[in-house]
Amino acid sequence: MKLNFSGLRSLVTGAGKGIGRDTVKALHASGAKVVAVTRTNTDLVSLAKECPGIEPVCVDLGDWEATEKALGDIGPVDLLVNNAAVVLKQPFLNITKEAFDRSFNVNLRSVFQVSQIVARDMINRGMAGSIVNVSSIAAHVTYPGLTTYCSTKGAMTMLTKAMAMELGPHKIRVNSVNPTVVLTDMGKKISADPDIGRKLKERHPLRKFAEVEDVVNSILFLLSDSSASTSGSGILVDAGYLAS
Ligand code: NDP
Repeated sequence: MKLNFSGLRSLVTGAGKGIGRDTVKALHASGAKVVAVTRTNTDLVSLAKECPGIEPVCVDLGDWEATEKALGDIGPVDLLVNNAAVVLKQPFLNITKEAFDRSFNVNLRSVFQVSQIVARDMINRGMAGSIVNVSSIAAHVTYPGLTTYCSTKGAMTMLTKAMAMELGPHKIRVNSVNPTVVLTDMGKKISADPDIGRKLKERHPLRKFAEVEDVVNSILFLLSDSSASTSGSGILVDAGYLAS
């Protein structure tokens, strides 16, 4: 999708790999300035080579204080993509406090924190903005072993709506994209068992998973003025899964 984001500054979390990395590349190619936030510095070094001029920030978004230090004074951001997440697979009866806290801190609490930092600055500047939360079909359906992950994404649905309601009067739109499996590192982990992977794929009316590019296109659409009247909403990128 060719959109022009020249003159705008964006911030993408979970920028080192997968969907976040390709979102950075697409925004960079569309003329936006990009703050790329992730946890592994070598990913940022290679990304900065591919996308000269991006602003790399290395931080663990599950750590509130470290995130405040790294992003508290990040300055003006017009477009925010909350993409970082972890999947910690555990059957419901074996879920540990550590895995629960880690999942919610990275997948949900960091979305609150980074969005607050960015939205406060948008409001102070009187500037319109767009925020996209990268959610999942796991906000709507669940899978064995993914209770905690699905809970974080289910909560993200209401967070997206609540942010849209409170930030809308400031001309800040907030939406989500909800992909099915995408064969990134995370997606490969989820569908690692070939039998489960095959059965899962067959349940999709289009008989396929989503491609990273499909998700990135929907993110860019929601960031752009092409979706100017869309807020508090979510785009399913699910190859028809939820219709099945
Ligand atoms: P990947 O695991 O491929 O990439 C995730 C990125 O986020 C990595 O760069 C990772 O860095 C970074 N990250 C994870 N935890 C932190 C943290 N605490 N602080 C900073 N950065 C962090 O995931 P995907 O690209 O597949 O997923 C992106 C988004 O898409 C997620 O929100 C996910 O829930 C969603 N999604 C993915 C699906 C899939 O099948 N892949 C399906 C539906 C939704 P590092 O590797 O250094 O930890």
